[in-house]
Amino acid sequence: MHELGLCSSIVDAIERRAGERSVARVRVRVGRLHHVHPDAFDQSFAVAAMGTVAEDAAAELVLLPVRARCGACEATWESDTIPLVCPTCASVELELVGGDELVLESIEYRGRKA
Ligand SMILES: [Zn+2]
Repeated sequence: MHELGLCSSIVDAIERRAGERSVARVRVRVGRLHHVHPDAFDQSFAVAAMGTVAEDAAAELVLLPVRARCGACEATWESDTIPLVCPTCASVELELVGGDELVLESIEYRGRKA
């Protein structure tokens, strides 16, 4: 389950930012190229967060689409999977320009507002 490695990285990032503060909720943006399954993500996050400031925190996963650009006609588009041909001109000269994001977008702490 590779989500666990990914969640460990996220928890490391949370610990660096949170310091001693107890974390209530985080929001994470993950590109679809990471092939993260939401259920596996929840379980892995709970395991990775155990014994840290993020223990019992709610993790909200925001999946970002794969974005591709065509080298032939310069069309760009979004997809849930890795595209093989350009939908506009059928060229295979494609470049992936998004979908590998891994961003800790926000952290909410316990016992404080905002
Ligand atoms: Zn094209």
